[in-house]
Amino acid sequence: MYLKRNLSKNLTTFHSLRFPYKNSIRSAHRYSVTVGIGGNIGDVKRRFEHLLVSLKRDSRIKLKETSLILKNPPFGFVNQDDFFNSIMVLKVNMQPHAFLSYLMRIEKKFARKRSFANAPRTLDLDILFFDNRNINTSKLSVPHPAWSERESVLIPLAGMKR
Ligand code: AMP
Repeated sequence: MYLKRNLSKNLTTFHSLRFPYKNSIRSAHRYSVTVGIGGNIGDVKRRFEHLLVSLKRDSRIKLKETSLILKNPPFGFVNQDDFFNSIMVLKVNMQPHAFLSYLMRIEKKFARKRSFANAPRTLDLDILFFDNRNINTSKLSVPHPAWSERESVLIPLAGMKR
């Protein structure tokens, strides 16, 4: 069940039991990571729900918070379906590159196929922030370079700030 609201002609928000969600129980995990999630193939909202169920079962991470879900137009390669995006805040003990590999394994589990840049995708997971670290390696740029330019990040994130 989703509560659907049109923000504008192109932007729609969806609220459900798990999006947005907040768990204020303290956890012993060390680092706070903000992860962008997105997709535009098949039933993406349902996939997000499955993702949360599987993350909640995983003792390596603690799910702290999620944002609402935003439906928004694609950028880059525009001849594809609209994207659904949301944001999760997790607590982890993994270091950044280990956490990136962990996310890539989850993408694979949810059957992501890599084809070309900005191509349609079942599940895309991006590290937006990792604590307050700045990381610039060949594999990882944190904060994510485009976070402040994308409605798909800014609108869900705005609802989480308090
Ligand atoms: P994409 O196809 O957009 O999911 O890009 C995935 C690639 O971006 C991966 O191979 C990562 O090594 C690289 N990458 C660089 N910075 C980040 C980040 N902050 N979060 C996720 N992937 C990143």
